[in-house]
Amino acid sequence: MSSTQSNEHKVDASWIGWFVGMMGNEFVCRVPIKFIKNKLNLAGLEYLEDTLNVVLEPLFDRSVASVSGHEEKLYGMIHARYIMTERGVEDMRLKYERGDFGVCPKFHCKGQKALPVGLSDGWGHSTVKIYCPSCRDVFKPRSRPKLDGAMFGTSFPHMFFMELPMLRPQPPVEKYVPRLHGFRLHESAFKPLD
Ligand SMILES: [Zn+2]
Repeated sequence: MSSTQSNEHKVDASWIGWFVGMMGNEFVCRVPIKFIKNKLNLAGLEYLEDTLNVVLEPLFDRSVASVSGHEEKLYGMIHARYIMTERGVEDMRLKYERGDFGVCPKFHCKGQKALPVGLSDGWGHSTVKIYCPSCRDVFKPRSRPKLDGAMFGTSFPHMFFMELPMLRPQPPVEKYVPRLHGFRLHESAFKPLD
């Protein structure tokens, strides 16, 4: 009982702690405050000082909690940069191994773990997708996060496997072959009618 209570006191009350702990934000990792405070890491991003202060807020009032698009975007764009760093890749590796990003839905990929990817590096184009490193295709995540794909960017999974080549999986060994009464179908059977 007492140990539970002491753990509760250690709960992270920061804006970042609240944001990454939010339902549906399991894909997002915690960017270290030090990284965010380094102006070099924010170069080229457009933001207001007030927005940055909320993101860095150590004692965020959760009773009035709401994410303004500005904070989410600023944190998201910094997040996309962070996960491309050595430490960021390591943080994402832990999440990948834990299965936080879900698995490839293809039957022949046999539950291959997936990584998040954006289809654009610009904010507001599309939500995050998952990339299967076995079949090298992208899918809608099952856990339906509404996160912007730019929080992860288009290069992240590829950087991840460059840094961690020992984690590269084999391509699927089998492939589904459509058959009718046991016979392979001729190509013409798949041609849509004009
Ligand atoms: Zn796959």
